[in-house]
Amino acid sequence: MTWLLYVGCVIGAYIGMEFMAWFTHKYLMHGLLWSWHEDHHKPHENDGFFEKNDRFFLVFAIPSAACYMLGAYYPDLRYLLYIGIGISLYGLTYFLIHDVYIHQRFKWFRQLESPYSKAILRAHGAHHAIQTKEDCESFGLLIVARKYFKRRSERKRAAASS
Ligand SMILES: [Zn+2]
Ligand SMILES: [Zn+2]
Repeated sequence: MTWLLYVGCVIGAYIGMEFMAWFTHKYLMHGLLWSWHEDHHKPHENDGFFEKNDRFFLVFAIPSAACYMLGAYYPDLRYLLYIGIGISLYGLTYFLIHDVYIHQRFKWFRQLESPYSKAILRAHGAHHAIQTKEDCESFGLLIVARKYFKRRSERKRAAASS
């Protein structure tokens, strides 16, 4: 039955990371560490490929690397290896959706036509509509508020009539 525990660790870590990403985005990146995140909210066409914001990739790699090392080294802590895998899979998803699909840092795929992918795009677009530390909305990535499944015009109409 240990395999079930390990699968649970991968899935649990993956889901937990969406919460962690939301939490750090809302309270750290738009808080104490805004100076690292700021350039992700400002237009910057001509100043190179990397943003200061990319440092967070390295920060999130630390707990995952620690999980891999401890989980591989100590048989009693094997489950940590699978938590590390869950964190990595989330990191990969975040990179593909946030950096490739939404921000087009690599032109690998552009148009995804599913209602869910469009909702993700709208939600993150709403986050970027504000270029300051305060007043932003939708800090998560994969969990999208229901309203973003509607088009902007439909959302406005719904807000006006309520
Ligand atoms: Zn932000
Ligand atoms: Zn973004």
